[in-house]
Amino acid sequence: MSHLQPPPQQQPQVITVQSATPAFRDIPVSMVCPHCNHQIQTAIAFESGTLTWVICGVLLLFGCWLGCCLIPFFIDGCKDCIHTCPSCNNVVGKFTRL
Ligand SMILES: [Zn+2]
Repeated sequence: MSHLQPPPQQQPQVITVQSATPAFRDIPVSMVCPHCNHQIQTAIAFESGTLTWVICGVLLLFGCWLGCCLIPFFIDGCKDCIHTCPSCNNVVGKFTRL
């Protein structure tokens, strides 16, 4: 009887930050929550930020006014990233692209 090993689990990309003020990007970070002092991995959410509106304006200038200017609002890469604590749900950081 041969025992098959389960395939190794793919770990999501996480950056571990030791400093008190981690560099927030658009991926979850491991940190100590300043609100509840738990060791957490931040939950991220995207919201429309300055860059989203800038791209919207640029698309308008180039004549993409038939709805194309709304495209950046559907692309997370154009949005700001909000980091929240999954333990206490407080916002612990924000990543803005501008
Ligand atoms: Zn917390």
